[in-house]
Amino acid sequence: MKIGDAAIELAERRVEAERDAGVARIRAKLAGTSGRLVCDCGNPIGELRRRAMPNTDTCIDCATFLERQPNRRRA
Ligand SMILES: [Zn+2]
Repeated sequence: MKIGDAAIELAERRVEAERDAGVARIRAKLAGTSGRLVCDCGNPIGELRRRAMPNTDTCIDCATFLERQPNRRRA
């Protein structure tokens, strides 16, 4: 089974988002914010989710997306 172009495009978009997230992470650190407020994809990470999972850096959508990846690669 061949991976569709859409899946590749989605993966590439995520790589770009990860890069942007690095900048956001540094900004949050400088601002003294603990934990991520915004996911790599740009979605806000809900306060309840951050409270339940203080170390999470993904919104629920991305967490679900990552769960579904056959080969999970986290930076
Ligand atoms: Zn997300």
